[in-house]
Amino acid sequence: MTTHLSVARTLDHCAVLGPGTRAVIWVQGCPLRCHGCVAAETLPFEGGTARPVAELADWLCGLSGVEGVTLSGGEPFSQAGALAALLDAVRERRPDFGAMAYSGFRYEALRRGDPDRRELLRRLDLLVDGPYVAARHGSLRWRGSDNQRLIVLGDRYAHVAAEPDTSAGIELSVAADGSLSWAGVPPTPGFREGLEEQLAARGFVLHTQARRNG
Ligand code: SF4
Repeated sequence: MTTHLSVARTLDHCAVLGPGTRAVIWVQGCPLRCHGCVAAETLPFEGGTARPVAELADWLCGLSGVEGVTLSGGEPFSQAGALAALLDAVRERRPDFGAMAYSGFRYEALRRGDPDRRELLRRLDLLVDGPYVAARHGSLRWRGSDNQRLIVLGDRYAHVAAEPDTSAGIELSVAADGSLSWAGVPPTPGFREGLEEQLAARGFVLHTQARRNG
C-alpha cells in the first residue's frame, strides 16, 4: 500500500471546486501538458511535499463544516493508490465524506486503467474528466473547457446534474502569514495572468501554488 502522497497544496475550506464546502488536495505531478494549464507549478513530478496518508486522513477527519474533499492537481490518478487509501481511512471515521476528483484522462480510459485507478474511481462521487482545451474554454461549473464532463458516480450528488452549468467563480484566500492564493476554475482564459498583473500593480504577490482549470 502506498503510504505517502506528493502534495502541492491543501485548502481546508473551499466553495468553488465541487458541491458545498469542501477541503481540497492538489497533488504534485501530471503527465499531461494541456496548453493554457493554470496549474503549471503542479506539473513536474519532482517537488511537492511528501505527506503521510494517515496524517492527511487525520486532517480531513478533523475539519468541521466540510462535506467532502476534492482531489485536484496535478493528476490525481497518477497517485491513485494513495488517494484510494486516503478515502478509505477517512471513511472509516466519516462514512459520509464525499469525494470528487479531476482527471486529465477520460472516464472510459480510467475504467480500463490499472487496478489502483479503478479502485480510486470506485470511491468517487463526482469526476471531472478530460484534458483542458483552451479553444473550448467556457464559463462552466467546476470545469474549464466544454469537452470536460462532470460525471456523477453514485447517488450522493445525483442532484448536481440538474443544476445550472455556470461558473462557480474564484476564491481568494489570505493565509496567516499574509500570503495570497486563489482557488477555483477561471471563467475566462488568461485569468491568472490578469490577476497577477492587477495584484502586482497594488504591491501584492500571488502565492504560486496549485489551483485548477479543469
Ligand atoms: S489542465 Fe490538468 S490535466 Fe492538463 S496539464 Fe494541467 S493539471 Fe494536467
